[in-house]
Amino acid sequence: MSSSCESQSNRTESSDEKTTQGVYIRTFGCAMNEHDTQKLYKILEKEYHPVDAPEKADLVLINTCSVREKPEQKLYSMLGEMRELKATNPNMMVGVCGCVAQQEGEAILKKGRNVDVVFGTHNLSLVPSLIQLRKNGAPPQVAVNYREDWEELPLGFADADSSKNGKAGKVTAFISISRGCNKSCTYCIVPTTRGPEVSRAVAEIEREVRIAVHRGSKEIVLLGQTVNSYGLDLSPRVSFVHLLERISSIDGVERIRFLSPHPQEVRADFIECVSSNPKVCRHIHMPLQSGSDRILKLMNRNYRRSKYLKIIEDLKTRVPDMAVTTDIIVGFPGETEEDFQQTLEVMDIVQFDQIYSYVFSPRPGTPAASMQELITQEEKLHRLQVLQARQEEIQSARLDQWVGKTAEVLIDSYNRMDDRCFQGRVSQNFVVNFTKPYEGLSLGSLVKAKIIGRKRFTLVGEIEVAP
Ligand code: SF4
Repeated sequence: MSSSCESQSNRTESSDEKTTQGVYIRTFGCAMNEHDTQKLYKILEKEYHPVDAPEKADLVLINTCSVREKPEQKLYSMLGEMRELKATNPNMMVGVCGCVAQQEGEAILKKGRNVDVVFGTHNLSLVPSLIQLRKNGAPPQVAVNYREDWEELPLGFADADSSKNGKAGKVTAFISISRGCNKSCTYCIVPTTRGPEVSRAVAEIEREVRIAVHRGSKEIVLLGQTVNSYGLDLSPRVSFVHLLERISSIDGVERIRFLSPHPQEVRADFIECVSSNPKVCRHIHMPLQSGSDRILKLMNRNYRRSKYLKIIEDLKTRVPDMAVTTDIIVGFPGETEEDFQQTLEVMDIVQFDQIYSYVFSPRPGTPAASMQELITQEEKLHRLQVLQARQEEIQSARLDQWVGKTAEVLIDSYNRMDDRCFQGRVSQNFVVNFTKPYEGLSLGSLVKAKIIGRKRFTLVGEIEVAP
C-alpha cells in the first residue's frame, strides 16, 4: 500500500487466455486508482485476460491521475507509444480512464486520435459495452457522467490480485468504502473529478470483506479520500469507528488498514479505536501537506499544525511503536523559506516513518492554480531535495531501531531479488524480505520473525516461529 505515483498492474495470466483476448492496464496515481484497476480486470474478465505488456494486448487501458502533472504528461507520451503499436495491430483498442478522463472527457479524443474509449471514474461498469460499440464500428466512445455504478459491479471484486509483481495472490484486499470528497483543498481536483462524498452501506462493505476473506485475504485495506468521514452522509449516520469495529469482528480478518484519514475528522473515538483494536494495524498514513499554519490556511486544509501534532502525540502516547507516514507538498504558492522550515520542524518532531513528497504543480480549475507563485521551480526542487534528504536520515534511523527485534510478519509476496523466498510486512507496514526459502509457509502465513538487518528502506528477517 502506498501513495506511489505510478504502478504497473500486472496480474498473473489466466489459464483461459487462449479463449479470451489480452488486456493491459497501466495505472497512475493513488491507491484509489489502483483499486479501480483491479475492478476493471474483474469487470472485463469474461472477455479479456490480463497480459504483462501492451505489445501482447488487444485492449490497453490507461488509468490516469490528475493530482500531479507528471502522470498527465505520461498519458500523452503513452498514447504516442500506442499509436505505433496500433500501426502493427490495427484491431487493438485503446481506452483512457481515471481522473484525467473524468476531467477532460472528449478533449482527450482531440489530443489522442488513436483513443477508442474514454470513461470516467464513475462509469467503470460501462466499459464492456463501450468497447463493443466501438468494435461494431461506432465512433470513439466517451462516458464521463457522474453516476453511481456500484450496484452494477460484479460481486467479489475484492479478491483482485493486489500484488505488484503478479505473484502475491489475494492476501490483501482493497475495499472502497466511499467515493468522492466533500473537502475543498485549494490544490486538489478530486472533488471535481470524483464528485461529492458518497458512503457505501455497512452491510455491503461487510459482505465484500467476507467474500475477500473466503477467498483467502487476511488483510483488508479500506479506501476513501477522507476515510474517517465515512458514513456521515448515511441515514442514520454511521461512524468510521463503527465500521472498523464491525469489520474487525469478522472471522478471518487478521489485519485492517485504511487510507487516508483527514486530521480535521479525527476525534477521540477514532484515537481510542485505532490504538486499542488489535486488528487495526499500528500504522497511520495521515497527510500533513505543510507544517506552516499560513500555508495550511491557503490550502484550505481546515486544521492547524498543533491539531496534527496533538493527534500524533495522542496516538504515540497510547501506542509508542505506531508508525506514522504522510504526504507533503513543497513549494505551494506563497510558501516562504520560513514556512518551509516549519514543515521541516514538524518532520523533526513527528519522526515520520515514510513520506510521499511532491513539488506543487497547479491543476487547471483549482483555486491554487491562480495563486501567485513566489519562488522559482529551481527553488521548489531545491526544497524538495532538502526535505527528502532530511527524511532519509530520519527514516534510516527509524528502520535501524528494528534490527534485533522480533516482529509479526504477514507473508504477502515474494522477495523480488529471489523468488524462492518470501516477503511480508509488519503491522507498521515496513517490508521484510526473507533470504532463505522456508518449507510449509505460504502467502497469507503470519510468522514471528527476527529482524537481522536492513537494506535501504526495507528490513531483512529470519523466521523464528512459523504457524
Ligand atoms: S481531502 Fe483535500 S486533498 Fe484529499 S481528496 Fe479531498 S479535496 Fe483532495
